[in-house]
Amino acid sequence: MPLPPASAQSAAVAGLGAPLVDTHGRVHRDLRISLTDRCSLRCTYCMPEQGNEWLAKTSILSLDEIERIARVAAADGITTFRLTGGEPLLRTDIVEVVRRLAGIIGPSGSPVEIAMTTNGIRLPELLPALVDAGLQRLNVSIDTLRRDRFRELTRRDRLEDVLAGIAAAEASGLRPLKLNAVAMRDVNDDELVDLVEFAIRHDAQMRFIEQMPLDAGHTWDRARMVTQDEILATLSARWTLTPVPGRGGAPAARWMLDGGPHSVGVIASVTAPFCGDCDRLRLTADGQLRNCLFSTTEYDLLPILRAGGDEGEIDGMLRSCVRGKMPGHAINDPSFLQPARGMNAIGG
Ligand code: SAM
Ligand code: SF4
Repeated sequence: MPLPPASAQSAAVAGLGAPLVDTHGRVHRDLRISLTDRCSLRCTYCMPEQGNEWLAKTSILSLDEIERIARVAAADGITTFRLTGGEPLLRTDIVEVVRRLAGIIGPSGSPVEIAMTTNGIRLPELLPALVDAGLQRLNVSIDTLRRDRFRELTRRDRLEDVLAGIAAAEASGLRPLKLNAVAMRDVNDDELVDLVEFAIRHDAQMRFIEQMPLDAGHTWDRARMVTQDEILATLSARWTLTPVPGRGGAPAARWMLDGGPHSVGVIASVTAPFCGDCDRLRLTADGQLRNCLFSTTEYDLLPILRAGGDEGEIDGMLRSCVRGKMPGHAINDPSFLQPARGMNAIGG
């Protein structure tokens, strides 16, 4: 069942796929596509300093393979593609990836939305071309505003490059612009207010993430995690926080600061999981579909893509992945097993 050319696509795909609904009634609309496991930083909560086992270059999906999967996913009701990694801007064909995906029309006749999560380092040189290619939304990660801390935390002395990336993002006009920070005890938990004020100055929304057990070194320690309650208590000393209703499937719960217009988000995957509304699937850079960040099961698209499989088989694998989705992750269960892949190889 090969898909027709893009020009005829919006009419023809209407019949290709039913929505991707799991056995708990969740409809999947968001596909996170990891473009590489490589990165220009080595954040302690994500990657080891040395000795990372990289994915084999031959197994990394090509531009054509990513587009093929994305077209089937869009026909099945995926409306947002978030490009991530590793560091997505390290892909040499990143502008073309954005252009190809942005050209996909969903069954409703609307184009899909293209978002990206990045460490920002290559944004100054690449952002104009990415916007021209169809990038619509941007999240940039920044955990600290202090150079010495940044160097320690990421094991690279590149804070200035990230700040330049955020300045480029602000200037690009892409909104809402979101800044992400993993809150860490005795590392950056004295900078939460500074980070929110920094975000406000850059017309961005700050979002704090509870640290999750996804580091390649398996060193996560619940006792050292900064919780959503602690984050809110710290921010409450500076602002009056009012919850924003209508979160939908978004991972971040939001609070208005002093009645608005600015707000802050918290992604509390550990202490306040939001699995009941999860609408996300993930595709790793080596063609594995995952139905949860914390899943230990993967659905392998590579044999289908490389041994002459057709679009119906890609669709079938997407549906198997969705069918296998558990009601929630088990981080808080004593039997929880951390996935073998680190966050950089899953796609955050
Ligand atoms: N390199 C890009 C970046 O850092 O934005 C994209 C990939 S990174 C894996 C995506 C997001 O995952 C980042 O915001 C990062 O802070 C977050 N992240 C990585 N490891 C994490 C962990 N163990 N717990 C919580 N968030 C994590
Ligand atoms: Fe790289 Fe992002 Fe992981 Fe940091 S969080 S090491 S920037 S992939």
